[in-house]
Amino acid sequence: MRVSILGAGPAGLYLAYLMKRRRPQAEVRVIEQNAANATFGFGVVFSDRALEFLRDDDPDTYAAITPLMESWNDMTLVLRNERIVIDGIGFSAIGRLKLLQLLQDRARAAGVALIFDRPVKSLDELEDADLVVGADGVNSLVRKTLADELGASLHFLSNRFAWFGTAREFDTLTQTFRHTPIGDFNAHHYRYAKGRSTFIVETDEASFARAGLERMDDGAARALCEKVFADALGGARLISNNSIWRRFPQVSAKKWHDRKYAIIGDAAHTAHFSIGSGTRLAMEDAIALERALYESGDGVASALPAFDSLRRPVVDKIVSGSAASASWYENFSEHMALAPADFAMSYISRSGRVDLDRLEKMSPRFVQRYRAEHK
Ligand SMILES: Cc1cc2nc3c(=O)[nH]c(=O)nc-3n(C[C@H](O)[C@H](O)[C@H](O)COP(=O)(O)OP(=O)(O)OC[C@H]3O[C@@H](n4cnc5c(N)ncnc54)[C@H](O)[C@@H]3O)c2cc1C
Repeated sequence: MRVSILGAGPAGLYLAYLMKRRRPQAEVRVIEQNAANATFGFGVVFSDRALEFLRDDDPDTYAAITPLMESWNDMTLVLRNERIVIDGIGFSAIGRLKLLQLLQDRARAAGVALIFDRPVKSLDELEDADLVVGADGVNSLVRKTLADELGASLHFLSNRFAWFGTAREFDTLTQTFRHTPIGDFNAHHYRYAKGRSTFIVETDEASFARAGLERMDDGAARALCEKVFADALGGARLISNNSIWRRFPQVSAKKWHDRKYAIIGDAAHTAHFSIGSGTRLAMEDAIALERALYESGDGVASALPAFDSLRRPVVDKIVSGSAASASWYENFSEHMALAPADFAMSYISRSGRVDLDRLEKMSPRFVQRYRAEHK
């Protein structure tokens, strides 16, 4: 069997590894436009139990990844310089490049051919394969080429964000909200390695325009964000890595397969970064696709629809939670008018109403504070 996978992100690398592990005779190659050590972004978070899927399916990869992660048990919101700790909401984080390098090593050791620095311009270049997988991210060539067959669509949220890093280590995943004369901003920040944290700055469209960020070069934009978040950064500088201002793309497709073509990960669906699930979804897609192929005796024609119908309900649930979370962020300025504990409750309930007694089991200290303020 010849398998061509487009894109060496988490979805493509992990699928290649799984395919080759169970099919030593198969020819599995991954084609990536960038160099092996190039990536966008800094660290990524996984929600507390997000790695459990790996523990069950692939204990070796789980054991390789977990020692590289930073973890914590609480999260913190900062509003008008007041810190509200929400206990019991844990996350783990890892540098994106570190994760990719680990997955590259595992794929290579299994016998996968990894081809870097090769941008694919047309699906004709992959014609000789029995199976072509588009693990090629938000701007997927496979999805765009087969847009009609897949019923694909792409919408952009209106908030702008830029993905920075910083040397300051934060003790928990923290969301800092700042009201300034030029507009409202929030930052999602957490450490992902010794002396390294992710620092994503987000602002609404009106504040983005008022601040003049569109016309600013990278240095000026960074300086402005350092000023807005001076307290959170405590004098640390922001670091850029292709940290352009973007709007979050919501990708969807009615079908994730057409003939011998499949799409997985961000090529097929996106989950807003505020719920920390995109990487996990990408890797779970890889597991589901490989399993559907294995169970059908590598019959591509039957495996791809089986993958789609089994995987879709799981993805839909997370994507709909992500859409609710994204919509809360699209209106974060309005929520900022709330009292801090109400603001935190609004944050926790952003994907649906939360039962206070149930929340108390998970976050007793926060609920105690909330109840005390609502006597
Ligand atoms: C600001 C931000 C923060 C995020 N934070 C988190 C987080 O905390 N936790 C989390 O789980 N997820 C997070 N995500 C989402 C996560 O980054 C993605 O969901 C994940 O990377 C998807 O993996 P993928 O392999 O599908 O795609 P990608 O990682 O995008 O990889 C696709 C690869 O395909 C390559 N490619 C594309 N086109 C071609 C071509 N024509 N030829 C050759 N190669 C090509 C690209 O260069 C790229 O390497 C975040 C996303 C953003 C934007």
